[in-house]
Amino acid sequence: MGSLFPPPPPLAGLLLENCPLAGRTTWRMGGLARWLVSFRDIEDLVLFWGNLSRETPRFVLGGGSNILVADAGFQGVVLDLTRGLNRIQLQQPVGPGNPEAILYAEAGASTRALAHACRHLGLSGAEFLAGIPGSVGGALVMNAGAFGGEIKDILIDALALDPDGERHVLTPDTLKMRYRHTQLPLGWIFVSARFRLIPADAEVIRKTMQRFNHHRRTTQPLAHPTAGSTFKNPSQGPCAWKLIEAAGMRGASVGQARVSEKHCNFFINTGQASATDMTCLVRKVRDAVFAHSGIRLETEVGLLGPLGLEVF
Ligand SMILES: Cc1cc2nc3c(=O)[nH]c(=O)nc-3n(C[C@H](O)[C@H](O)[C@H](O)COP(=O)(O)OP(=O)(O)OC[C@H]3O[C@@H](n4cnc5c(N)ncnc54)[C@H](O)[C@@H]3O)c2cc1C
Repeated sequence: MGSLFPPPPPLAGLLLENCPLAGRTTWRMGGLARWLVSFRDIEDLVLFWGNLSRETPRFVLGGGSNILVADAGFQGVVLDLTRGLNRIQLQQPVGPGNPEAILYAEAGASTRALAHACRHLGLSGAEFLAGIPGSVGGALVMNAGAFGGEIKDILIDALALDPDGERHVLTPDTLKMRYRHTQLPLGWIFVSARFRLIPADAEVIRKTMQRFNHHRRTTQPLAHPTAGSTFKNPSQGPCAWKLIEAAGMRGASVGQARVSEKHCNFFINTGQASATDMTCLVRKVRDAVFAHSGIRLETEVGLLGPLGLEVF
């Protein structure tokens, strides 16, 4: 261990030093994590989290599908929940007096796996998650959504840890979830969640998911590394891609980072783009949209700098 921070708390999982993060993000760029920790189970995470020194910068990584890691990397501990905290379980089946089933998922479980578990069980409500990459924790933080569905619509409650390791059960109301926004207090993390789903024909669910994914393949540049929509849609007026197009930025590039021709709110890594290229491109497009329309777009993707989340 290096001597930058106090020694790490006890851990049954794995601790790696100077670990590349590019391969753990869908944009496939960026630098190293000073430390990367994965856990054996929730108790392992709770113990580690509660004993982690306050001065150690920490960042929870889910599927890495909504984050840009700076080329300088991150000088703290990255907590990877996708290895040990990925269980999905039917907690309560549909039955007499229970018109809805309850599904339990740990924060590191993939949202796609959640959607397919529901399909297998003949449970409807999570079809919109089938094509959204990433983890349950990331989807909770972003209130991920598509095709008219959002995760808040099926969320019963979520278990979170505060910075001292105390457990809290939070509902969509207490989290004030709305379009791509969840008000999780600063420094808290999601550990697990419970979802409500209704019974339906598994074949109908499969066809709905197939239709959603077909739509994605025809409208999104899925052959290149991307982080999905770069900017949030403004609360009123034209959506982000229309503003980007109107500002003449479709196809704009910085180095090997490019605004997709196919969907201009998706920015792609065409080869060996650096995170600096991508950051410059995001700023260039935001400035061009502002100059053209007077609207300041807000990024949906986060930027992880050496000491934590930064503003683009
Ligand atoms: C091809 C493509 C298509 C996409 N389509 C959609 C779409 O249709 N709809 C949509 O909403 N999004 C979409 N996205 C964006 C992205 O997939 C979602 O926002 C996803 O929910 C992010 O989850 P993640 O686990 O990858 O989060 P990460 O990128 O790992 O993290 C995102 C943020 O969440 C935080 N976080 C992650 N886990 C936790 C946790 N357990 N506790 C606390 N904080 C946590 C991280 O610290 C970070 O700040 C798309 C992305 C891609 C690449």
